[in-house]
Parts: sequence; C-alpha cells; structure tokens
Amino acid sequence: MTYLPFSRPDIDEHTIEAVSQVLRSGWITTGPYVTKFESALSSYVGGRKVRALTSGTAALEIALMIAGVGKGDEVIVPAMSFAASANVILRRGAVPVFVDVELASRNLNVSLLEAAISSRTRAVMPVHFAGLPVDMDRLLQIARKFDLRVVEDAAHAIGSEYRGRRIGAFGDIACFSFHPNKNMTTIEGGAIACNHADEARLIEVERFHGIERHADGNIDVISAGGKFNLSDVSARIGLAQLERLDAFGKRRRELASIYFHELSADPPGILPEAGDEGHCWNMFTLLLPFDRLGMTRTQFQQAMGKRGIAIGVHYPCIPGLTLYRQLDYREERFPIASRIGRETVTLPLFPAMTDDDVRRVCSTLRGVLANRS
Ligand SMILES: *Cc1c(COP(=O)(O)O)cnc(C)c1O
Repeated sequence: MTYLPFSRPDIDEHTIEAVSQVLRSGWITTGPYVTKFESALSSYVGGRKVRALTSGTAALEIALMIAGVGKGDEVIVPAMSFAASANVILRRGAVPVFVDVELASRNLNVSLLEAAISSRTRAVMPVHFAGLPVDMDRLLQIARKFDLRVVEDAAHAIGSEYRGRRIGAFGDIACFSFHPNKNMTTIEGGAIACNHADEARLIEVERFHGIERHADGNIDVISAGGKFNLSDVSARIGLAQLERLDAFGKRRRELASIYFHELSADPPGILPEAGDEGHCWNMFTLLLPFDRLGMTRTQFQQAMGKRGIAIGVHYPCIPGLTLYRQLDYREERFPIASRIGRETVTLPLFPAMTDDDVRRVCSTLRGVLANRS
C-alpha cells in the first residue's frame, strides 16, 4: 500500500540537473537566475512588475509596508485563512479586522466588506482560498470607492484565472508563495506582483538590508531593511516549476473533477465550490459534520492515516487561535469561518496522483465514516 500525503511537490530529473549546475557554478545566492525567474514570472502575470522573496509571508509583510500600512491602521482580512495572513498585519503594528467567509467558496464574503470599513481602514487582503478566485471585480470596486489598497494573499493561486485573467496580472498588489505545498515551489519562496516601478524598487530595498545602489556604484542604506532575498538555487527550481505550472494545473483540475465525480452523488459532507477552468486547485477540502458523525476530526485523521492516507486541516478559524483570543477576538462572531475551522479536512491532491489514488481516497473515506462507531 503506497502512502498518500495530502500534498507532494513534483521535482523532475531535469530540475535536479539544472540545480546541480547552479551549485557547481560558484554563484548560489541572489544573481542571474533570480533575475530570470522574476522576468519569467512577470511574463506569466501579463508583464506586471514582479520581485522574488524568501517566502509568501515575507511577500505579504513587505506588500503591506509598500501599501503604506502602519501603526494603528486597520486591514480587513478573512477569518478563514492561514494565520500568516493576519500575523503579518500585527507585525506591521496594524489591526486585523476579520470578516466572515462563504461556506461553499471558503472565500471572504464580499457583501460583508463595506460594513467592516472604518475611517482607519487602509487595506483589504482577499485570500483566493485553495486557488478559487475571490470576486475581484466587486472587491476592487469597493476598494476604489473607499480608497483602500488591495493586497491579495494569492499563496494558493499561482496559475488561477479570474474572468480570463491570471491572478497577479491585474489589481493592486498580489503576493504568491512557493512553499512545497503550493502549486509550484522554490522550496521556500514567494513573490510580489505590483504596478509601479517605485514600489518594485522599495521591495528591492526592503528585502536586502535597506541598501540602495547608486549609478556610480556606491551604496547607501536608506531604511532598516530586512533580509528576504531569494537564492539562485531556489530561483532555478522556480524557473523549472513555472515551465510545468500549466501542466500541473491541468492535472490538478482533472483530479478535482474525479473527486467531484466520486463524491457528488452521495456527498459525505459539504463539497468545495467547483469554480470554473480558472480554478488552480491547490487543495480539495471537504466539510464533515463531526458533531453528528460520532467521531472527532483527529479520530478521522488517525483512521485515514492507518489506511495510508494523510488528511490535512486548512485551517482553524484565525480569531479562535490563542494569540487572537488573547487580543479579544471572538471566533463566534464569524460563524461560517468557525464552522469551516471545525469541520474542514483536506484530501490528498497533487499532480503525480493517479485517478485510482483519488478513487481509493474516496472509498477509504466512505469506509471510515461508515464504521465510525
Ligand atoms: C502558505 C500560505 C502563506 C505563507 O506562505 P509561506 O511561503 O509559507 O510563507 C500565506 N497565506 C496563505 C493563505 C498560505 O497558504
């Protein structure tokens, strides 16, 4: 019996060979491959300016900085996401203002957005959950009306399209992650897509010690910058992954459609929204009513694990996490995100899976739920 993780990166021999060449070249940190990677990503997102960083989290934090988010500002963020989405707001000295999400899409409920805006709101951070795009036309329209910056957490959404345009190809500032669980990887890494040359330059300064290079070759330090520059080794992996991204996406969509085929007739719980061909399917998540099933999620995960299938949890509701409870947030104020946080399970989904792997996940899941008592 082969063990199925819920996610697995796909690194081919060509990539390993290409990385070996970088390792042997004598230049392994930020250099020509980062530049090539950034321009390849830029072409991928319709020519917007792209700068690579060491993680999606660094991308979000720096994006908030260049969006002018600082002490006391409010940033609107969905209550259902990875904690990083809200943590970076706190790290800027700003205040996360959570809004609830929709049950099927798991995405920020755009109709709750206006009610969450105050005179201190500086930005909104939509999260394209599992790669399903948020209704960006509506969201950008509201952001324009209230003069808010839009920092997209597109960690799941490299390769997704909204109304025929790639995520990252339009809008204000979009942040990607290249963690191994995302649709393409650089091991660790991330990137920002933005519109303005001066913002791209600010990212360059902030990701490398606040250093500014003058035309005459001299350098100066103009801010207390951090250290978030990607290595050429990582960028070389990213270049090879980007070439395969559309093929990965095609396979992920095929696997998701088999999940729907296997689960739709007699759904064991609430299936995710199917989306359209623009959905990049970073994850396939299911809501199971553990209250009524007579088993806990941990018991379910253990039972599936014993049968060789890993089940993930993405994610607990952010306001219910200890840090946020200590800051006086209340999970109960976000009933949908709270329910998703209790009921969600992530089924295995990665390009190297076979059709039969998906069928095995579904039949094992039905068996485990049937023998619950
Ligand atoms: C993975 C992820 C991040 C953080 O990306 P890293 O590259 O791991 O720092 C942020 N937000 C969401 C929604 C994510 O899934």
